[in-house]
Amino acid sequence: MSKKIFLRTFGCQMNDRDSEFVMGLLLEKGYLKAESPEEADVVLFNTCSVRKHAEDRAISNMGAFLKKKRRHLKIYGIIGCSAQALKKGLFERLPDLDLICGTGEIAKLPELIVKAFQEKIIAVGNINRPLPELKSTYRQGKKSTHVSIMRGCDNFCSYCVVPYVRGRERSRKAEDITSEIKDLVRRGIKDIMLLGQNVNSYKDKTCNFVELLKLVNDVKGIEKITFFTSHPKDATVKLFEAIRDLDKVRKHLHLPLQSGSNRILKLMNRGYTREKYLDLVTRAKHIIPGLFLGTDMIVGFPSESDKDFNDTLDLVKKVRFDGAYIFKYSPRAGTGAAGMKDEVSEDTKKRRHRTLLDLQREISKRKKHEKADRCHASHSLSR
Ligand code: SF4
Repeated sequence: MSKKIFLRTFGCQMNDRDSEFVMGLLLEKGYLKAESPEEADVVLFNTCSVRKHAEDRAISNMGAFLKKKRRHLKIYGIIGCSAQALKKGLFERLPDLDLICGTGEIAKLPELIVKAFQEKIIAVGNINRPLPELKSTYRQGKKSTHVSIMRGCDNFCSYCVVPYVRGRERSRKAEDITSEIKDLVRRGIKDIMLLGQNVNSYKDKTCNFVELLKLVNDVKGIEKITFFTSHPKDATVKLFEAIRDLDKVRKHLHLPLQSGSNRILKLMNRGYTREKYLDLVTRAKHIIPGLFLGTDMIVGFPSESDKDFNDTLDLVKKVRFDGAYIFKYSPRAGTGAAGMKDEVSEDTKKRRHRTLLDLQREISKRKKHEKADRCHASHSLSR
């Protein structure tokens, strides 16, 4: 009888896409999809280690399942970023775990699972190996989906674990990406999101990211294109012009700010200043009418003072983002910032998080009203 697989995903869109890839591989090998962990023979958690809270939640959820484990009848595995970051330390935290599979080994999961029915398995090899072709027949979405265009990151922002768990930046060939998208169109998908840790530094022998966007825009049958995520130091006027001019590309830009303080941006190794950021988004708004601008911000980075935080509030008021993800800093082992002294207290982080969230909510609300008023005015004029 076919074995059943249950796969839960934590974290970002990159993980969602990896999980689809893994599910596709296993379905091709004859597994069936289980709707709950209880009915599954193999329970996998695809984990995120970008924030401590998300990592702890995945491990403690897995721990709760393992308490109910009937030995040898089921395989429980942790795959993805936390598997890569914590390696065999996961067996120490979860002694009944059967399988640990890092980000560079997910293409081998079908064989690893077979072995895990016999013995404990750990596979956390070379994270920089050439890209496994993350193509698989399985897609969760019927009309929209994600397409990975690259993996890894070379930026080494001092708070971020990604270069250590997903490896150095590797771009897929443009022709492989467009052929995957044509195949998706044949299956009825019309809306795609191009994914990479820093899509703006995408580089194939024949094209850069702006050229790739043009190639994808030319694929017949695709109706909407989004991309995620951009790095301010690599975003250019040419990119903004492409967003404006390419008819299928959504007028949407996610440009993580992280902090509005030049001192903190330097400690974060972000490669831009608040002045450069402001200049960049001013140009983007000017070039792309109706632009929806999103961002990410971190509060409580080591040594962040009231002045640094006020600089962030000030820049947020100047930029007026449409939306923002705001996080409290948590140290990640092995990163540059993990060794930095002068931890900001938990209370201060909470207070700053609340203040920034309230400010951003107010700005988002006002911008929505302004947009609605503009729409209303243009309808009235056209009557
Ligand atoms: S750009 Fe910075 S924050 Fe983004 S994945 Fe790379 S190292 Fe992490």
